[in-house]
Amino acid sequence: MNQPPPLVDYNLFESDAALRESLEREGASWAHDLVHELGRLAGTEQAIEWGFQANANPPRLRTHDRFGERIDEVEFHPAWHELMKVAVGHGLHALPWREPRPGAHAARAAAFYIWSQVEGGHGCPVSMTYAAVPALRQSPELAAEWEPLMTTLEYDPGLQPHAAKKGVLFGMAMTERQGGSDVRSNTTRAEPTGANGEHRLTGHKWFCSAPMCDAFLVLAQAPGGLSCFLLPRVLPDGTRNAFHIDRLKDKLGNQANASSEITFDGAWAVLVGEEGRGVRTIMEMVNHTRLDCVIGSASLMRQAVAQATHHTAHRTAFGKLLTDQPLMVNVLADLAIESEATTILMMRIAGAFDRAADPAEAHFRRIAVAIAKFWTCKRAIAVVAEALECHGGNGYVEESILPRLYREAPLNSIWEGAGNVNALDVLRAMQREPDTVSSYFGEVELARGADKTFDHAIDDLKRELTPSDGLESRARRVVERMAIVLQASLLLRHGEQKVADVFLSSRLVNDWGQTFTFGTLKFEKELKSVIERHRPRL
Ligand SMILES: Cc1cc2nc3c(=O)[nH]c(=O)nc-3n(C[C@H](O)[C@H](O)[C@H](O)COP(=O)(O)OP(=O)(O)OC[C@H]3O[C@@H](n4cnc5c(N)ncnc54)[C@H](O)[C@@H]3O)c2cc1C
Repeated sequence: MNQPPPLVDYNLFESDAALRESLEREGASWAHDLVHELGRLAGTEQAIEWGFQANANPPRLRTHDRFGERIDEVEFHPAWHELMKVAVGHGLHALPWREPRPGAHAARAAAFYIWSQVEGGHGCPVSMTYAAVPALRQSPELAAEWEPLMTTLEYDPGLQPHAAKKGVLFGMAMTERQGGSDVRSNTTRAEPTGANGEHRLTGHKWFCSAPMCDAFLVLAQAPGGLSCFLLPRVLPDGTRNAFHIDRLKDKLGNQANASSEITFDGAWAVLVGEEGRGVRTIMEMVNHTRLDCVIGSASLMRQAVAQATHHTAHRTAFGKLLTDQPLMVNVLADLAIESEATTILMMRIAGAFDRAADPAEAHFRRIAVAIAKFWTCKRAIAVVAEALECHGGNGYVEESILPRLYREAPLNSIWEGAGNVNALDVLRAMQREPDTVSSYFGEVELARGADKTFDHAIDDLKRELTPSDGLESRARRVVERMAIVLQASLLLRHGEQKVADVFLSSRLVNDWGQTFTFGTLKFEKELKSVIERHRPRL
């Protein structure tokens, strides 16, 4: 009936040339077997089914038990637990902390990108646990107590005192109803109750995802100002902490994951880092979750492109395979180029996390993660929508996975700082830490001389940054240009030649459709090779 075979039993890693090349380049080829195995698993019918089941059977809140006692538990479908078991069992929540060797963040990024293609929602607690470690290390005693449990490969769900668990997961609770991005207007209060940084927290959080995590990093107002706290769900004596789940959010996507509204009713918590420096402390966490938003967006794009190149390679219309129709070639190649540029960027930034002991890399990381978070999360929305259309009506049907990817796509741009907040963060980095700009241009300039268009683009960008007039209003314009110039530099140095050429002519020179519609590249011969580089093979 002219329908494609299902895209199962293929290896997501083997079929992803851009990722394989990046893994090696970022010094993480030692992780080949791990990522390869996850690529195999992610292509199995079983894993794909878990992704569908976990989303078709969203979590349910149970506030009370049958005797009327508060329990504040969320029940998940068994498929969620299977997905979590694989993620934790392969160290996606902890790899660089377990194996602090060169390339560990890059290895984890590649693995997380592969496994997230099966299902995005369960990546939330996995990401938050990974990201909580560097924040917690600001209180070495707390880190010594919790980190060994945060880095085991055991997925041990259920509420128990942490000392009794084989492994724990962390969440974060910053966002309040009245404050949101402006966390300094948070009203949750923290009253000191004794020595060792112990406090009682009273207040609410408007968004708290994965509320079945074992502990949370929470922002609250202490006498000395906004501070960061570690708040466990269960106290050491086995009683439940006063952490009440009021309701679960009814969300656009991200259905497998639970996101809740919570109330702290004198909940026990302990200070992390310095009192009054809560934002600084939790930013250590946010920098890592922002990297994961980039990985998540790259992963969504890759899965969408894999599905689209596969579908069109097996469906015929008007006497030809869709993938051989010249206009479809234009669309697919354009999507593949965007996906490749994102994958390379994601891996380069993950590599900077590995090399952060080098000041230039640390400065590059600081600015590049905010640039990439802004840009790639925006692009994922457009890429997924267009890849969906490549499937025709089938793409609009749930079984194709595209509707799920489509609903998931806007989320990465919202949480961990919505688009404007990230764009403004790039300006903050430029103004407060000018070395970040030097490191950015240091990286970009490595490709100078490879292409005249590119050289002009660097010079234009420098001119765009120079006047501070209206910079805040121009932040998105500046940041998207910084992202594209950085991607162009990476593609010129490391990408496939054809991909780099077309990226430059479309994205840099704007020889492209007026509305950034994919499939508006100028006429190019041999675009088919770009598609074939991205098409998964069964
Ligand atoms: C599914 C989901 C799960 C979440 N999970 C968690 C969680 O586990 N823990 C947690 O703490 N939070 C969580 N969040 C909250 C999320 O981080 C916030 O929604 C996000 O940071 C934006 O804050 P806000 O919703 O209050 O929007 P607002 O702060 O009201 O922002 C609204 C809009 O205004 C823009 N804006 C804000 N300031 C400026 C400015 N100065 N100039 C120009 N524009 C501006 C923003 O970019 C945004 O587009 C979650 C959100 C979602 C959707």
